[in-house]
Amino acid sequence: MNKIWEQMYEAAKSLHNARKISDYVTCGEVAAAILSKSGKIYTGVCVDTCSTLGICAERNAIFNMLTNGEHEIDKVLCIMPDGKCGGAPCGACRELMVQLMADNYKDVQILMDYEQKRVMTLGELTPEWWI
Ligand SMILES: [Zn+2]
Repeated sequence: MNKIWEQMYEAAKSLHNARKISDYVTCGEVAAAILSKSGKIYTGVCVDTCSTLGICAERNAIFNMLTNGEHEIDKVLCIMPDGKCGGAPCGACRELMVQLMADNYKDVQILMDYEQKRVMTLGELTPEWWI
């Protein structure tokens, strides 16, 4: 596996820690790492709340990237609740990535399965955008 995927995996794995914050909030069941075009890794965990106030790990990582002044994504991976690495982002996360990079989102690489080294592009997952 490409060294950068391993670094992203280690970054996400270090945050993968499901925990209860309050009677209404849990977090950390899913952890994500985003590689920006500049080569920096940004991370985030999912936050699950009462009344849909939470956020996916992927979007949390993207917001972290935006907070730090970047907006172009190269690679995405996540650690799922069962501890396995890889999987397709949900529709909301895909939509955010497409809106951030409308002209070149199709090249974003998504790790689908770390053990099998299977990578897909956002263009394969989202071939036709609605706008
Ligand atoms: Zn999502």
